[in-house]
Amino acid sequence: MLFAGVSWSAYGLTVEVLDDAGAPAAPTRHYDVVRTADLVADLLALTADGQQLKVVVDSTNGLLDGSMSVAGLEVFRADPHVLGLRPLFGSVDARQLAELARRPGKAELARLSVEDGSLRGRIGQMLEGWHLIQERMDTMAEAGNLRRHGSRNEATVALTFDDGPHPLYTGQVLDVLDRYDVRATFFCTGLSALSMPEEIGRIADGGHTVGNHTWSHPYLPDLTPAELREQVERTSDALRRVTGTRPTLMRPPYGSLAPRILDMWKAFDETLALWDVEVDDWAMPGAETITQRALSQTQPGSVILMHDAGGDRSQTVAALPALIEGLLERGLRPVTFDELHS
Ligand SMILES: [Zn+2]
Repeated sequence: MLFAGVSWSAYGLTVEVLDDAGAPAAPTRHYDVVRTADLVADLLALTADGQQLKVVVDSTNGLLDGSMSVAGLEVFRADPHVLGLRPLFGSVDARQLAELARRPGKAELARLSVEDGSLRGRIGQMLEGWHLIQERMDTMAEAGNLRRHGSRNEATVALTFDDGPHPLYTGQVLDVLDRYDVRATFFCTGLSALSMPEEIGRIADGGHTVGNHTWSHPYLPDLTPAELREQVERTSDALRRVTGTRPTLMRPPYGSLAPRILDMWKAFDETLALWDVEVDDWAMPGAETITQRALSQTQPGSVILMHDAGGDRSQTVAALPALIEGLLERGLRPVTFDELHS
């Protein structure tokens, strides 16, 4: 049996692999996010001769497990209560995560799957957090600090794509948008901005809006105020270095909000950019289902949440032409999130 830990930092991702005895079973490897496919292939190669492999990520590293699970790897999430202190910016180190896979002790690790997503076992907690902040979200929406949708009296809607860019799918999404001459909004992570500046440049040059989606896609309620600030500020800085403009929108990963996140958000300038139409394209329900879910929920002013990275997004790309045509047939014009009137 082998045990791998995948950590993140200001520079990218690091993988450490241990054997049964806790000795390194492969050299320490560093990857840019653009090379996620290589990271997955290298881990898969370790299982080629029938060797079993357990991979562990932590809850502040939310974008890898989909790609790894889809490839057939056995992936687990370690939550903060089973881990020690993290640095201000970065996960606990890869070796510590691998060690936890090897000797979990009483620590509970969540086995992740494509169907259940990165937050398996914590969805109830997240919904509880949401439940507690409904009124506060309304107040913030009135003040313009948070938006779930635009005006219901205007025939505009916003297509939004999270988690990218991706070296393959983002370009394909942009090609479809170009074909219909529509603009969208892309919520990008700092880790991606670091390794895919060309893709982000193409998004911005095409007249699309680039928003902040944090550095490493953490489950926000797990962060301290200082960690949240690092996640948001460093991502905005990285995006501004590429596009020349500081993002004015921030989309919380998973939509993970809780009372203390809203408390912390008072110190931020970015508008919390939520959505009112969810198609769950990350669970790969099929292109037709994605289109049909989007069209059946969308009304004037809607914000549609989709993903151009974080896993296999071929279904999202395939769903897009019929989705856009369906919107246009109803007289709903796609605009960027910031172009929606309130
Ligand atoms: Zn996301």
